[in-house]
Amino acid sequence: MGESSFIMFGDMISCCEGNNIRNESKKKVFIIVYNQQALNDWQHQIPIMKDIMNLNPVLWLNPKLKNMNEIASLPLEGEDIKKAELLWQRFAPFLENEFPETADTKGMIESPLKRIDHMKEKYFSDMEGALYLKCDHALPIAGSIKARGGIYEVLQHAENLALEAGLVQKNDDYMKFSSKSFKSFFSQYSIGVGSTGNLGLSIGVISAKLGFNVSVYMSVDAKQWKKDLLRKKGAHVLEFQGDFSEAISAGREQTMADPKGYFVDDEDSENLFLGYSVAALRLKEQLYRENITVDADHPLFVYLPCGVGGSPGGITFGLKQVFGDHVHCFFAEPTHSPSVLIGLATREMDRVSVQDFGIDNRTEADGLAVGRPSRFATAISDQLVSGIYTIEDKELYRLLAMLADTEKIYLEPSATAGITGHRQIEPYVREHAIELSNATHIAWATGGSLVPEKDMEIFYNKGKRLI
Ligand SMILES: *Cc1c(COP(=O)(O)O)cnc(C)c1O
Repeated sequence: MGESSFIMFGDMISCCEGNNIRNESKKKVFIIVYNQQALNDWQHQIPIMKDIMNLNPVLWLNPKLKNMNEIASLPLEGEDIKKAELLWQRFAPFLENEFPETADTKGMIESPLKRIDHMKEKYFSDMEGALYLKCDHALPIAGSIKARGGIYEVLQHAENLALEAGLVQKNDDYMKFSSKSFKSFFSQYSIGVGSTGNLGLSIGVISAKLGFNVSVYMSVDAKQWKKDLLRKKGAHVLEFQGDFSEAISAGREQTMADPKGYFVDDEDSENLFLGYSVAALRLKEQLYRENITVDADHPLFVYLPCGVGGSPGGITFGLKQVFGDHVHCFFAEPTHSPSVLIGLATREMDRVSVQDFGIDNRTEADGLAVGRPSRFATAISDQLVSGIYTIEDKELYRLLAMLADTEKIYLEPSATAGITGHRQIEPYVREHAIELSNATHIAWATGGSLVPEKDMEIFYNKGKRLI
């Protein structure tokens, strides 16, 4: 019976296609799907849906998880990650020249891996294995994990345009991209992106630096300081009522209206995904340098905050290529924005949004406040992610203050969601008979270093009151 409501859903989409307004059709779909009978059917078919819809924190284990040797084919392969890494290397001289903060790493955008023993001793003393933080909050240029995907996508677009125009060859010194003539070449082209904040920040900053005419379409609840910073860096900021999906729709439409426009589509981007995936190659080296083994007796658990699923999906894809079945990746979503969880659990993927299930997509974790999952990323994560857990906003704040007190590391609320991952995995570990005594746990810290001090103080005090 649940299915019959989705036949209506399909009909509704086609009957609305004529007016060509994505938003409109989504709203109509929303009205149709949100009927109590259909929702009851979902809860009946998939019992965890009841807790998800009641906004209770849940752990969902992925019944479609496959061993690497059982996966027939994916839209991308390991070779694609290596090609993406080569693009980063070509642009390193340009990045080093334009962004002094990347001088230490010679134009590589990378973050430290840090063992957080004080946090572990104080709050998780009973956990088995070592606890690390992957410090993407400290990534240069964008201060969030979006420095990986967003900057990569704009660089590959710039390279394509320059190659087509005969301005460069791949073995040239890409310092050329810093020249006046390149910047004036790119100024005829526009780039658009819809964003809750961090993606816009990364796209806006790198695009403006290359000379593009860049517009960032933001939801009204995007943080003011992010809008201010973007305008300062030379991006246009347009604000939209409603949530992130609506900003994306508007941005997509307006950018595509320009024949020289390029839209960075967080809801369906292969390039964002590839940019994120490179993190796996870098992490492999960092683990090697730390003498951390990853094999059957030394499992690696990685906990990734999840919005549309692009960054956690890309990193999971990369890690699975590198470590195979010895790495176990979990996504973490806010209880109010479990978009990837609902997409995977119902098998409806990006055809459903959290609002279709009466969930409001209201969370303080603006980096994760996404109602509908990425089509591209979700199709791949489907076979690779071990599970997804949801977490309440107040827990995010609590973790923020706990980490600040014990490690002097300051994250934005979205970025703390991975820190409790190791507390969630017990049923999974049991089911797969995994021995944890030699495990390495990595919580992926996804953003925070650009948050103004005043805002951070408010975050911290909020968390402190909740501990
Ligand atoms: C964007 C973002 C995420 C999640 O990435 P998705 O690709 O949207 O899943 C996590 N944390 C922060 C801070 C982010 O900005």
